[in-house]
Amino acid sequence: MTTTQSLDNRHAVVTGAARGIGAEIARTLAADGARLTLLGRQRESLQRLADELPGGGHFIAVADVADQASVAAAFADARAALGPVSILVNNAGQAESAPFHKTSLELWQRMLAVNLTGSFLCAQAALPDMLQAGWGRIVNIASTAGQRGYAYVSAYTAAKHGVVGLTRSLALEVARKGITVNAVCPGYTDTDILRDSVANVVAKTGRSADEALAEFASVNPQQRIVQPAEVANAVRWLCGDAAASVTGQSISVSGGEVM
Ligand code: NAP
Repeated sequence: MTTTQSLDNRHAVVTGAARGIGAEIARTLAADGARLTLLGRQRESLQRLADELPGGGHFIAVADVADQASVAAAFADARAALGPVSILVNNAGQAESAPFHKTSLELWQRMLAVNLTGSFLCAQAALPDMLQAGWGRIVNIASTAGQRGYAYVSAYTAAKHGVVGLTRSLALEVARKGITVNAVCPGYTDTDILRDSVANVVAKTGRSADEALAEFASVNPQQRIVQPAEVANAVRWLCGDAAASVTGQSISVSGGEVM
């Protein structure tokens, strides 16, 4: 899925950019010429990433994607710093597990707020620039949990299915405006989310970390954990001009777990 086309100084906002998949997406887009707004809750970790990115001149926006006022302020600042937004990658997310009967309303609402409402708020904030320009790319990092069910993560799974629904409907609404909207759906990927899940299994079952990790890898037909760079490469491809006719799709980056 690589392409040689440059992202040509396009302004890309990546949410949850400080670490994991988001950081790898930021590195990949910056390497191809994009100017980045790195959006997240912790300035220090975002600054560390900004310092390492190629190109220079990237912008940091501290915001909680679940908070409307915070998102609006972040996009206004980003626009003032780097101009109109032409690429939005809704990557910020949290995955907390609980059996359904122990899923509190607070957990349910937090999973929906961060994973689904956050994507809605950021898309609303970015879209006017894309409509004005007649060009835009929105890539939502959903999950295989947006494509199939998993036990013990009903709130997260409901939120990620919502992200896929949002992707499809928005793609249709802007189909004639030069804007594409797609979801990338990783399987278990080597980041803090997976490390936390492994720690959770170890604490709850007494299995070793290696056994728990092997269990996660066994879900993937390739019998391995996905690397963040593989997810970033799919995002990069969707952001290019060559992917102009790909919209409303949910691309599974999961070794064939979903097909
Ligand atoms: P991660 O390493 O835990 O990173 C999550 C990022 O989201 C962090 O930078 C975090 O920043 C940010 N974030 C969390 N809540 C936020 C909020 N309310 N506002 C702004 N930023 C927030 O996780 P990851 O694995 O890279 O996950 C990235 C995306 O991929 C998520 O949407 C996740 O659901 C999805 N995904 C991951 C996997 C996997 O196995 N890893 C599989 C499928 C899908 P701070 O905490 O520093 O603020």
